[in-house]
Amino acid sequence: MHTRIPEPLKALVDQLARLPGLGPKSALRAAMTLLKWPEAETRRLGRSIHDLRDNLHLCSRCGGLAATDPCPVCADPERTRDTICLVAEWDSMLTLDEGGFYHGQYMILGGLLAPLEHMGAESLDLGRLTRRLAEGEVRELILALGATLEAENTATFVARMVRERFPGVAVSRLAQGIPLGAEVKYMDKETLRQSLQYRQNLP
Ligand SMILES: [Zn+2]
Repeated sequence: MHTRIPEPLKALVDQLARLPGLGPKSALRAAMTLLKWPEAETRRLGRSIHDLRDNLHLCSRCGGLAATDPCPVCADPERTRDTICLVAEWDSMLTLDEGGFYHGQYMILGGLLAPLEHMGAESLDLGRLTRRLAEGEVRELILALGATLEAENTATFVARMVRERFPGVAVSRLAQGIPLGAEVKYMDKETLRQSLQYRQNLP
């Protein structure tokens, strides 16, 4: 970053530039915008960032972010308790739940296995998952980890662990294949291979 930028501004720009989607230039633009805001608004944003850690908790049941523990999803008595949908990150749970078609429980794994990025099994929240399964209430674990190589490896790893330690729990995964509205001729080979592998009988 340019050395002529005054230090207080430079400190902010350097921090903002670490956010996803913001490089040094857009970070500087964001910082300049903050300077133009009415002071009360800039301070309110600062307070929100300052208080973020104090007011936000990890739900002890699912590992999701919430203002309360347990989070509203885990505390909801209307949701079924014998099915858990396992997602890698909390924002995947938000997206899935926005659909309103799944009424079971969630758990957040906290990432995916990525040996090249030093993400091993110890960096995943497996303890929370095994404690939950050990309670004996869950009959099915749905793996909703994605369709990347890391997701595949993680799904295989979790499925093996669950089968060995909790044989009474069925492990399923989200279907993979051709997205809605897509044509077969435009699909890549791997998508087609999986579409064939996970084909379904017509009702
Ligand atoms: Zn929760």
